[in-house]
Amino acid sequence: MAACLIALSFASPYEGATQLSKREAQQAPSIREVNSVARPDGHRPVAIVGATLIDGRGGAALPDSVVIVSGERIVAVGRRSSVRLPTDAEVVDAKGLTLLPGLIDAHFHIDGDESLPAVFLTHGVTSVRDPGQWSEEYEAARKAAAPIPRLFLTGPHFDSPPPAFPQDSIIVRDAEEARSAVKRFADEGASAFKVYFRLPLGLIKVVVETAHARGLPVTSHLEIVNAADAIRAGVDGVEHVTSFGTALLSWREAEKYRQAVLADNNARREGRYRVWSGVDLDSPRARTLFDLLVERGTFISPTLAVFERRADDKQTTEMHVLGFKKMLDFVGRARRRGARIVVGSHSAVPHAERGWAYQRELELLVESGLTPMQAIVAGTMENARFFRIAERLGSIETGKLADIVLVEGDPLKNIGAMRRVKRVMLNGRWIVTSAEGK
Ligand SMILES: [Zn+2]
Ligand SMILES: [Zn+2]
Repeated sequence: MAACLIALSFASPYEGATQLSKREAQQAPSIREVNSVARPDGHRPVAIVGATLIDGRGGAALPDSVVIVSGERIVAVGRRSSVRLPTDAEVVDAKGLTLLPGLIDAHFHIDGDESLPAVFLTHGVTSVRDPGQWSEEYEAARKAAAPIPRLFLTGPHFDSPPPAFPQDSIIVRDAEEARSAVKRFADEGASAFKVYFRLPLGLIKVVVETAHARGLPVTSHLEIVNAADAIRAGVDGVEHVTSFGTALLSWREAEKYRQAVLADNNARREGRYRVWSGVDLDSPRARTLFDLLVERGTFISPTLAVFERRADDKQTTEMHVLGFKKMLDFVGRARRRGARIVVGSHSAVPHAERGWAYQRELELLVESGLTPMQAIVAGTMENARFFRIAERLGSIETGKLADIVLVEGDPLKNIGAMRRVKRVMLNGRWIVTSAEGK
């Protein structure tokens, strides 16, 4: 208590208040998915025997493991020699497979493709958050027969006129409108909010304060608000590596880009590659940004796969290729500095077939410099913290909900193994019991 008071007395009253509200927000009860996820029908426990276990927390993998599931929960985890199998268990021989927590996707878009959530589930993605969509867009997917992942919705993203995506946004024009929109979507079960790139800094602050008062996180798609300013305003997450562009430019260059985007939303399509091909990641500006990300513990969902440009791609110049390389480099450096990276697939991306964007993002995170283990943690436990569901999901631990993926081979040697999904369990129920990956 005394230490706490001393620490606070050095901070400005404003900073003290922000830290307290952030801590209160983190102590809020676990955020819930909007859909009700079925429990297993029978009462027989399931024993998954012989897999190499990667539990999602980043420690060494455990060969020849046993994981026991009863009902919707994991009830025992350990070495085969140390865990006794229940006599009535359904035993699954998982030799040659790697067992991981169900994958969590921080950036899923349904884009009118109502069967896509079910496809993602069969590929091991057991929780998805759509960071900007009316919940009505998910009604068809929720009514369909095929099981779907745990669904975390936010309502439309918050933007200012003229919005880049009118159908996916709600326009807020002042603080009162921002507060009232946050409260309404929170009442409807929103599990987070996303501020979009035209929303001015002052309104970002209002959204953050109102959301945090409800125990809900705020994430952000930035282009013309400086990322450092938005982080200091209290956003919990930043979507897209490109959101950091203007914070890496000189003020004058950043202002030129801002004005181009303010005049035409589409100026950013080419503009972001021009910006990134010219950024200097060794600059003092970059160092300050990395330090801030680490100090604040901001979650970064880079969505690299949606920006991927390779020399052989259509209409791709050296500028695009270099711009994308710098984006990869930024993410690798941020992680090495200690920033918190999570996985967001963006659902449809240029270098992955339908349904495999998440796996492509994992591969690109490894290309950016994360170890395969760090990429897996980014997609499981770190994302669970970002979603504020970490005490019931995100890792393979006794007491947690049984969202489990089994892949063939060793993803720590080759992250491409994450495409060879053999079994998927959601809430203690098998969704997939053998499948061909891609
Ligand atoms: Zn976005
Ligand atoms: Zn998006």
